[in-house]
Amino acid sequence: MNGTLYIVATPIGNLDDITFRAIEILKNVDVILAEDTRHSKRLLNHYDIKADLWAFHDHNEKQKSQVIVNDLLEGKNMALISDAGTPLISDPGYVLVREAKKAGVMVSPIPGPSAMISAMSASGIASDKFGFFGFLPNKQTARIKAIQAIAHTDQTVIFYESPKRILACAQDLQSVLGDERIVCFAKELTKSFETIKTDTLPNLLDYLQEDVTHQKGEFVILISSIDKDDKMAGEEQLDKILPILLVEMGASKAAKLAAKITGIDKKYCYQRAIDL
Ligand code: SAM
Repeated sequence: MNGTLYIVATPIGNLDDITFRAIEILKNVDVILAEDTRHSKRLLNHYDIKADLWAFHDHNEKQKSQVIVNDLLEGKNMALISDAGTPLISDPGYVLVREAKKAGVMVSPIPGPSAMISAMSASGIASDKFGFFGFLPNKQTARIKAIQAIAHTDQTVIFYESPKRILACAQDLQSVLGDERIVCFAKELTKSFETIKTDTLPNLLDYLQEDVTHQKGEFVILISSIDKDDKMAGEEQLDKILPILLVEMGASKAAKLAAKITGIDKKYCYQRAIDL
């Protein structure tokens, strides 16, 4: 009989945020695969969980996955946990799950917290349609490009940010999205200094800068989707100017200029230009 690989969500701060089933599974598996064994020991000791603990992280995921799958095929039951929240959500595990499924091993999720879902549930930003983008690039040029690419989507955009880059990221968000867009910064969720601020970017920047402690902690950022009226106005403007620009210049130049005038993403303007 093959073993089962359980994907177990663990707390994102408050140790009480773990399900009865997660504790039961962690107590009964043969091996727990943990991103950082020292970090996870705190949780496991708290719940008196004594299973064998193996290190499983970004750097050894590829190399270890096959060994783990072989053990699963020999009947070992295993649980994958990450430092916080749901494994595979900006955390290791994808290669292992893919390989385990390929080998015919049962993979079973034990649901629980994830920072992105927790943040969205209390943000006051629309939750009917959303996209999760993990971490934005660290370098400013790439980060600005990434923000430009998501600036005009008609869904809520969610991503993670570290305290090291939160101020620079907020400044880049303002430079691309302007002063009116509603954004949420959710930090230190489930911890003593939990703060969830949903406001315009100038107000959020004031908050970050008024006290350095406001930049500390782990952040989830949510960007509200572009207002439907603004989007329609932008599109109408694009429809008017693109044909005029295309008489004078090529599609690429016209798209660049149209993007500057309307604030709409350049790639989108280019597609519209070549479709005309
Ligand atoms: N797997 C995790 C999950 O399900 O949310 C995410 C892991 S990712 C490596 C870590 C990032 O998640 C942090 O840098 C932060 O952006 C976000 N995060 C984790 N815990 C958080 C918390 N308590 N409050 C706010 N953000 C948190």
